[in-house]
Amino acid sequence: MSALFQTAIVNIGTIITGDLAEPVIAGDTIICRDSSIAIVGTASAADVEACDVIIDAAGAVACPGLIDSHVHITFGDYTPRQKTVGFLESYTHGGITTAISASEVHVPGRPGDPAGVKALAIAARKCFEHFRPGGMRVHAGAVILEPGLTREDFDELARNCVRLAKAGFGAFASPYDYAPFVRMARESGMITMAHTGGSSIPGSSGIWADPVLAMNPDVSFHVNGGPVAMPDADFPRLVNESAIALQICTAGNLRTALLVARLLEEKEALERLLVATDTPTGSGIMPLGILYTVSHLASLGGMAPEIAIAAATGNNARVYGLNSGIVARGRDADIILLDACAGGATGDALSALRNGDIAAVGAVITDGRPRFVGRSRNTPAPTRSIRVARTTVMNDFAAHH
Ligand SMILES: [Zn+2]
Repeated sequence: MSALFQTAIVNIGTIITGDLAEPVIAGDTIICRDSSIAIVGTASAADVEACDVIIDAAGAVACPGLIDSHVHITFGDYTPRQKTVGFLESYTHGGITTAISASEVHVPGRPGDPAGVKALAIAARKCFEHFRPGGMRVHAGAVILEPGLTREDFDELARNCVRLAKAGFGAFASPYDYAPFVRMARESGMITMAHTGGSSIPGSSGIWADPVLAMNPDVSFHVNGGPVAMPDADFPRLVNESAIALQICTAGNLRTALLVARLLEEKEALERLLVATDTPTGSGIMPLGILYTVSHLASLGGMAPEIAIAAATGNNARVYGLNSGIVARGRDADIILLDACAGGATGDALSALRNGDIAAVGAVITDGRPRFVGRSRNTPAPTRSIRVARTTVMNDFAAHH
């Protein structure tokens, strides 16, 4: 084995970049060197031969690993809400290679005092620094904004690498009370997110456009409702009166998800559209959630599938400051292969998504390492025979079913 670990993907049918500016690029080969993408498009035979693993995509679609920007992480690969172990590893079989915590709000008995919420966020962040379930990278540690937090507290959090702050489940009397805390978190360099839609505060009327505009967070969480949507009249206000990224979630209101996508498209501001699942929640565990929402956007919303994929990859990466989510030289080597599912009516992944089907996940590569090749545990088999053509390491990369 060479000093660098190298993985080649050859015979790619279509390369989807995840970048709205150039969503499809020419070429049939991607080479990863250690954790980074080194070559995209065409490569010499010598470059391919030098790789430790060569994956034959057999004409399938390559795209960035999907980024779910709304996952209810707690500790380890476990969800207390659904009492299930191994859900994150299962999500990699839905093509999700990055999960971003929507705050560790599901931790049983979660603390609400400043010392407690700080400790919770810092512990979650550090517990996932080196733990990659199924190869997934987990960005955990989202501090829940609570009364009593000070600017010094946010600075302490930032020094401990907590990069996320969430408004929506704190013990405030009114959603407007979050605004100064969102400002403090942002001044400490954090990415701020606000619950949007049906009430999360007992006795309040829900968090609709006015308080979200007053908070002016980086991201309006589940703007389509999580799971209950705000009134239709409030959607154009968030689109037109702010630059807030608008996250639509699978476990939300489908009609208003399509409404948000249409409003952003009309405003030529699709870079603000983020796709996420908002799971595990009462809606369950949804390993294929991102694929479903991409398929809904493409089939019901009339969006080009490569644009819908960008909303679930490059758009999330830009707003959250990640180096994954785009297929380009120097970006993180998180790549998935998609195809039409065997036995379906369409011949390729993009046609399948336009048809309203999910796509088959035929391979997942994260951090430059193949995690499985051939077929996913959670989708039907691909139409094409995606396989390991050659490997110098003792692993066939088959998923264990
Ligand atoms: Zn949520």
